[in-house]
Amino acid sequence: MNIEYRMTQLIDTYNRKHDYLRISITDRCNLRCSYCQPADGVLAGMPPQGIQLKERSEVLTFDEIERLTRIFALLGVKKIRLTGGEPLVRKDLPKLIHRLSVIHGIQIIGMTTNGVLLKSFARQLKQAGLTNLNVSLDSLRTSRFEMISGRQHFNDVMGGIQASLDASFQPLKLNMVVMGGINDDELLDFIEFVRDKQINVRFIEYMPFKFNQWNQAKFVSFQQMMETINKKFELQPVESQSENSVTKDFWIEGFVGTVSFITSMSYHFCGTCNRIRLTADGSIKSCLFHQAEINLRSTLRSSKSDEAIEEMIRSAVLQKQFEHPIPKELVKIENRSMIQIGG
Ligand code: SAM
Repeated sequence: MNIEYRMTQLIDTYNRKHDYLRISITDRCNLRCSYCQPADGVLAGMPPQGIQLKERSEVLTFDEIERLTRIFALLGVKKIRLTGGEPLVRKDLPKLIHRLSVIHGIQIIGMTTNGVLLKSFARQLKQAGLTNLNVSLDSLRTSRFEMISGRQHFNDVMGGIQASLDASFQPLKLNMVVMGGINDDELLDFIEFVRDKQINVRFIEYMPFKFNQWNQAKFVSFQQMMETINKKFELQPVESQSENSVTKDFWIEGFVGTVSFITSMSYHFCGTCNRIRLTADGSIKSCLFHQAEINLRSTLRSSKSDEAIEEMIRSAVLQKQFEHPIPKELVKIENRSMIQIGG
């Protein structure tokens, strides 16, 4: 690798190239899933305080997000994903997507959403330049959905999924966080759901964050999920298309949809991690599970040049650790919750 190449790309001390930026555009959400936004302190016997939302003035503006995305694109970022909080609660989201989609070098723009507002936005998002869409859904049963998410939006999400298929987000990805004793009895139902739909259902291992009610009993590993699924379906492995893939992918004879697993806990993929995260309030986080953050907001709002920001981004990447700690340690780590980091 020559020196010039190293200087323009975001390469960390373990030689991993970072070309994927996940941008949280808000820390607000219209659902209340406790594994994602814990009522801080409840389990420690303290009064619930909930998540401390950022002041609106602390959240990056569209101009700031666009400027940063241009800088990242010059540093080799090709793929971005908008997340949150819930990205669709941010006003004028299609306008932001359009502004980002025309940035030279950005080839893929994805979004992860809970789908509540998707029905009325799916077509506009596609027209604005959104290429990849992931919808999160943890249950196919109305009452259970309401129990997990704390809100009565099951039919809205189902309508959003259909609208996304109609708008040709195909394959659409459906994210289900699998939690023992809560929704792990729905693995087969989710697979059945994609029998005749161009949907890639992705079973995600439940990740521990401080106060998010994770415990070993609620953790269902990839291997355990496979044991359940193998009783009914014969999963055929798909050769991975990308060295940075975070999923183990499978197809099933006679099915339109496909099945994947995100095994961040049982078989982590830190060795090929190409991701950097930008939080809604402008911090760079080089790893979901490490506390270290470098906040770019005040520099962005000063008269400092793009080069100064670039230096801060590089320094965040150089601080990246080789891998994250084991699950039992992660529960204890001081970190922001998923809703604040951007999942
Ligand atoms: N509001 C959007 C949504 O619901 O998709 C985007 C933000 S959410 C933080 C992004 C993804 O992170 C969702 O698929 C959610 O299920 C996942 N997630 C949140 N907390 C998690 C945890 N503790 N373990 C595994 N996945 C988690």
